[in-house]
Amino acid sequence: PFLDNILLLKRNMHLRDRQQAWQNSSIGKEMMTFRENLPAFKEKEAFLLAVRRHQVLVVSGETGCGKTTQLPQYILESEIEAGQGGSCSIICTQPRRISAISVAERVAVERGEQIGESVGYKVRFEGQRGTSTRLLFCTTGILLRKLMFDPDLNGVTHVIVDEIHERGMNEDFLLVVLKDLLVRRTDLRVVLMSATLNAKLFSSYFNGAPLLHIPGFTYPVNIHYLEDVLELIGYTFSEIDQADDYGEDKAWKMQRMLQRSKRNPVVSLAMDALANADLRKYSGAVQFALSQWNPECLGFKLIEALLCYICKNEREGAVLVFMTGWEDITALNNCLKSNPLLGNPNKVRLLACHGAMATADQKLIFEPVPQHIRKIVLATNLAETSITINDVIFVIDCGKAKETSYDALNNTPCLTPTWISKASARQRRGRAGRVQPGECYHLYPKAVFEAFSEYQEPELLRMPLHSLCLQIKSLKLGKIGDFLGKAIQPPDPLSVRNSVQLLETIGALDDKEELTNLGMHLTSLPVDPRIGKMLIMGAIFSCLDPVLSIAAGLTVRDPFVLPVDKKDAAEKVKYKFGKEDCSDHIALVRAYDAWKQAMDAGNAVDFCWKNFLSFSTMQVMHSLRRQFEVLLRQAGFVDPVHEYSNLFSKDLDLLKGIICAGMFPGVSSVWSMESNTKYKTVEDGPVQLHQNSVLSKIEKIPYPWLVFYEKMKSGNVLLRDATGISDSMLLLFGGKLYKSETVGRLHMQEGWLEFTLHTPFAQSVMILRRELDSMISQKMENPKLDV
Ligand code: ADP
Ligand code: MG
Repeated sequence: PFLDNILLLKRNMHLRDRQQAWQNSSIGKEMMTFRENLPAFKEKEAFLLAVRRHQVLVVSGETGCGKTTQLPQYILESEIEAGQGGSCSIICTQPRRISAISVAERVAVERGEQIGESVGYKVRFEGQRGTSTRLLFCTTGILLRKLMFDPDLNGVTHVIVDEIHERGMNEDFLLVVLKDLLVRRTDLRVVLMSATLNAKLFSSYFNGAPLLHIPGFTYPVNIHYLEDVLELIGYTFSEIDQADDYGEDKAWKMQRMLQRSKRNPVVSLAMDALANADLRKYSGAVQFALSQWNPECLGFKLIEALLCYICKNEREGAVLVFMTGWEDITALNNCLKSNPLLGNPNKVRLLACHGAMATADQKLIFEPVPQHIRKIVLATNLAETSITINDVIFVIDCGKAKETSYDALNNTPCLTPTWISKASARQRRGRAGRVQPGECYHLYPKAVFEAFSEYQEPELLRMPLHSLCLQIKSLKLGKIGDFLGKAIQPPDPLSVRNSVQLLETIGALDDKEELTNLGMHLTSLPVDPRIGKMLIMGAIFSCLDPVLSIAAGLTVRDPFVLPVDKKDAAEKVKYKFGKEDCSDHIALVRAYDAWKQAMDAGNAVDFCWKNFLSFSTMQVMHSLRRQFEVLLRQAGFVDPVHEYSNLFSKDLDLLKGIICAGMFPGVSSVWSMESNTKYKTVEDGPVQLHQNSVLSKIEKIPYPWLVFYEKMKSGNVLLRDATGISDSMLLLFGGKLYKSETVGRLHMQEGWLEFTLHTPFAQSVMILRRELDSMISQKMENPKLDV
């Protein structure tokens, strides 16, 4: 111990000397001046004092004031100055991978270091940290994972949770865990950081923890709603020019033009609003428009026209465009690239900023551009609070956001774009006023803004809880219901019970709500538990390749695009891929295989175009497949040496069994009444097939059962996707089987799934099923076992 102490002392001194040397060097001084000009600097002493005095501190401040890059750094610097640098360990969580990485890199630069020295990062599959790393930026998921192995966070001195105002599921969850942990670890310091809103909520959750607010300064931002935007660019629409000849009233002209274009109800609504002063009359129409409006329909044309307008008429400064996700960013990007002005690299630098971006590409967003070039950044709501782009003066806000649904690494189920909250809209607006007075263009009418909710609903209250429930179990946090009851805003007990029940049905939890071996494995797969189970079964039964495609396809959402004007042709293509097997899922497999072949032959873009497939979605599927395979290999389910995992990949019966294993309890029975085929599921009674499903075009489905992943209610209950399967596959791969008193009758754990069978056959089904179940459970116990 004596020697250890000496070494520690030496290390501490070295850290201090280095820090001082940097701060006294000429670039270091310049950097310090930059940092000292950030609003956070004025609160530095107050912040450090509060951290020393209180277990929990809540800090709020405008985006860009220096919370993320400065506050953790202040702690690190002060520990190093005090000669304790070697023994502190600060963890700062970020909700997204990209911000964890970019912030860590920025802080390393500010400290004149390489990433991985005193500052590092860790996100899933990627990390830069060394033995000397004292400040670690990581995703919230990584910290939760760490808690699994080290529930007391031994050695960690400070935990900083960033962006808590977003109310992400992981963050809300982490706060409950930390609240418990603080009782045991009285020396641990927790700092919660949030954008300006709602900090009081968190303070009262932590028994009145002190609040520190960093006053910020922003320049005024001019607000333009859709009405104004259309007026600004109105004359670029040729229809209006024509109408002008007739000397018509302008508002009416625009209205007529938009009625003609008929693509976007909100735009028409805005036009009505222009013509009629009283917007209140339109509240019903506003509601309708809210449900219909879709940035993609709005036509990238409007954004294109607005961007051209800004480039031609406005002062210098970067433009930040808020889009909903990776897909529409890519599509808009392609569309803008073909514009003679916006696509000209000598005049415009078009950049994208979203969570799935390669690390190297991120840096371009922050780089200044030469004077005569206009920087345009297409971003997701990532740029709302977690990333600050310095030179932005113009903001274009499409008004919608969605979670990065393609990114299974963040474990976010697919979501459709939804309206942002007023708070988000104000945040987006604020991005324009950081360096000088700015302009914000909201692509929706003022009336729509007024209808936004004040804050976004916390994720915990609107997302499926299956994965979270598994996580609670793997962290040994007790009864799921009790634990979630302790959240800031607890979810509805009914939805908790539904999730627990589903997990019991698929065999991830036992009847005492304890994790089974399957449940344990599922916690390491960042996908919906049902998809996770299907992946594991695919690996166990050496039928992995097609299952990878299905899992990836269901996770990213449909790669088949169905353009309104070419719907028939598009549906034919999907039908071609799936009709033979009576399966939307196998259609995914065949589409991917064909795409892969086209890819290898170098004509994938053309292939996608002809087959109505989204090229970008196919690419994401491709990379997800790889990630799934890596995870299965890490868990031991895939043998890295032998190619056993695809021994039976061509066996379609088996594949259907595995699909059934994954989709269960999503089962519906098929019964034909003359020409009219009907389906029935457990809870909802009669259901129908969604018109996008291949099966909806098959006259007579030659299977007694359908298994499906998703059903949705919109008037009728619709199955979005389905695969037809036989009795035997359902019996072998469905839920638990019971033999009832009545001889020759089998039923599944869902009581209504009854099979009347001849006794000898029932007998053999039971025997075979027992064999399969025992083999599966052996594999779950020890995935590497050869059975
Ligand atoms: P907050 O977390 O309060 O929103 P940050 O700490 O992220 O603020 O950013 C503080 C300031 O640091 C920003 O205003 C910006 O000027 C600067 N900054 C942050 N990241 C970078 C970067 N990667 N490159 C250059 N400057 C950056
Ligand atoms: Mg921040």
